[in-house]
Amino acid sequence: MAKKTIEDIEWQGKRALVRVDFNVPMNDAGEITDDTRIRAALPTITYLKEHGARVILMSHLGRPKGERNDKYSLRPVAEHLQGLLGEGHVSFVDDCIGEKVKEAVAALHEGDVLLLENVRFYAGEEKNRADLAEALAELGDVFVNDAFGTAHRAHASTAGVADYLPSVAGYLMEKEVGIMGEALASPKRPFVAIIGGAKVSDKIQVIENLLPKVDALLIGGGMANTFLAVQGYDMAKSLVEADALETAGKLLELAKQHGSRLLLPTDVIAAKAFAADAEHAVRQVNEIEADEMALDIGPDSIALYQKEIKSAKTVIWNGPMGVFEMPAFAKGTFAIAQAMVEADATTIVGGGDSVAAVEQAGVASKMSHVSTGGGASLEFLEGKALPGVEAIADK
Ligand code: AMP
Repeated sequence: MAKKTIEDIEWQGKRALVRVDFNVPMNDAGEITDDTRIRAALPTITYLKEHGARVILMSHLGRPKGERNDKYSLRPVAEHLQGLLGEGHVSFVDDCIGEKVKEAVAALHEGDVLLLENVRFYAGEEKNRADLAEALAELGDVFVNDAFGTAHRAHASTAGVADYLPSVAGYLMEKEVGIMGEALASPKRPFVAIIGGAKVSDKIQVIENLLPKVDALLIGGGMANTFLAVQGYDMAKSLVEADALETAGKLLELAKQHGSRLLLPTDVIAAKAFAADAEHAVRQVNEIEADEMALDIGPDSIALYQKEIKSAKTVIWNGPMGVFEMPAFAKGTFAIAQAMVEADATTIVGGGDSVAAVEQAGVASKMSHVSTGGGASLEFLEGKALPGVEAIADK
């Protein structure tokens, strides 16, 4: 990556102001139910501690809408982080700017870690207000952005603060941007992308951006229905986006122009209702009955897609192949995950639902990279510049 990283800084005694993504899911009792995002920031935190920095962490949690709200306090995260780091001192301060915070920062010794309270308790965070960015910047000597999950947002703690401090990428940010950037810029071929999920309209830009780059684009999920409908298939009760038909047609045209292979399912699992226990059968796409809806890709399509994936050298996957939340319609999605495991390829999974699927299938650790940022990875695949990445200094 052409961006400066934490390894480009002499940290001894310096204050590292680190934006992390500690936006972890919690249950009603305020307990953390999945600490993946906290663990993902550990390599950066550990490096900074070991190199004598005073580590000041800032993050958002949930959507407190610019107001203090104890439900979204990061205090439980500080306690959890203390457990993960094991040694050393992790402290917490119940604000992210102001005198109290400055005092807490001044009390830090080299190697200490301080977690600030939720930056979204201030409305200026999401508005990227300069006064908040400047107040945050006063707390550090160098800004480290390790929050890939919020890199697509230009907020005070992700982008604004970089106007006042030298800015570098943490290890997670470097890994996310590096591996996905390389896959898009100079992929080992064949390069196969699998795009699924409910709607074409959510993924138009991803498909537009990927089509000229990939050797094959495999489409699944609800969005495949819209592509099939525009080709004249009667999708019956399936989810079809009427107002995206024209777009789907244009994307098929674009694929032809670029000579890229855009593959659609040839068979589906057709159900009588959108329900876990609905009666269902395998149907060729031209045989879906009037009272049926396509809820997963069928066995022929699975075999076709698996063959493409297994012969690829780079595979990027975003979006499930069917309604994978219901076991009867999850086979297509899990089959994709399994094929990626078996492929001798760089395998990248981005996007909330496909990440959930590889975790459910227990194969997340077998992928080259599972992105921690749903929205951010989608925008990255769309070819957009991410404000949180742009703000980091070039090497
Ligand atoms: P997205 O958020 O766009 O990635 O879409 C994910 C959602 O699409 C999941 O909740 C799936 O249940 C849903 N989905 C996938 N395939 C279908 C389908 N064939 N019909 C309806 N919903 C689907």
